[in-house]
Amino acid sequence: MWAWRFRNEVLQDLQHQEIGNVSLSLTKTLKSNGEMKHGVVFKSPSSNTSPTIYLEEFYEFYQATKDFDTVIDRLSDLYRSLPVIQVNEAELYDYSTAKSRIIMKLVNTEKNRTFLETVPHIPFQDLSIVYYYLIGKSDGILLDMPVRDVECHHCGACCRHVKDSVPLESLDVYRIARFLQSQDKSLDSIEHLLSMYAEPAPIHECGYFTYTLKTVGADDACIFLKDNRCTIQAAKPRACRTYPLVAEPDDSSSFHYYLSMEKNHHFTGRKFKARDWMNQYFTQEDRAFVNADISAVPEIARLLRQIPETHKHRALFFFLLYKYTDFDLDQPFQEQYERNNRELIASLEAMIS
Ligand code: SF4
Repeated sequence: MWAWRFRNEVLQDLQHQEIGNVSLSLTKTLKSNGEMKHGVVFKSPSSNTSPTIYLEEFYEFYQATKDFDTVIDRLSDLYRSLPVIQVNEAELYDYSTAKSRIIMKLVNTEKNRTFLETVPHIPFQDLSIVYYYLIGKSDGILLDMPVRDVECHHCGACCRHVKDSVPLESLDVYRIARFLQSQDKSLDSIEHLLSMYAEPAPIHECGYFTYTLKTVGADDACIFLKDNRCTIQAAKPRACRTYPLVAEPDDSSSFHYYLSMEKNHHFTGRKFKARDWMNQYFTQEDRAFVNADISAVPEIARLLRQIPETHKHRALFFFLLYKYTDFDLDQPFQEQYERNNRELIASLEAMIS
């Protein structure tokens, strides 16, 4: 029997064994010695880990004996003897707790070319240092898994503990309002959106303020996070889209990019080019908005500082109106934004003179 056929027959026969409520699938894994191994994955609803039993030795046994029933019995026994291992996902996806469980191994660089393309590593002579996460120990055997290049595991960690930290710019609010209106006809205005999902956040003693997304729960999760997914994915704020990079305009109307460092677990993996990342997520519309916004801020802040105390409330009303709410959602954003900035400046000047 060919190896591929053997594996498929193993999969079928195991389904009829008494191994509990387990779903089975075949997998192949490139091991750190460069060898490709084929195995059966056992996924049980009572555990968040899925042990794999590799089939190469069983296939050798079968070729020598032609005793397929014994293969199936041994595989079933082996699976039943495995300990149930639960990985603490909160610890795993938080670098501050995971780092104490990270161990290093040396592998031969040449033999592991393909494997090394998928993991962070450091060359050392003709070897490479690779990193493993130590899951635990069972019967004296260390259980670990390689630290792979970063991919989104949909853990939602980026969107928790974000109180006062996800800014909502005018363009974000406009986009989210359009998105929510297309999903939920009960959202009748931008004011409604702001009252439900945003909090004002003063950013300057003169009264210049912005909005941030509301958070909920003990872990201060973003109000749009549900089941570890962003429910406004198609319209999420610029800060979320470009994360972990942040763009700031320089004096020549181009942009500097900075790496946000407050959540270390994002920086263990896949290399990406900042320019490619920002070309993808920092759109032309964003760039036009940021440039217009930054060029208007000094003048608006200067005027706000001069507003007499008696007119402060009125000034903030205009600020809110022109910056966030006076937009026709059926019309393009940028023209409206620039017009609003001019009208805001004119209104503030009138209050001072
Ligand atoms: S808007 Fe979406 S991506 Fe941004 S913090 Fe909220 S849930 Fe996360």
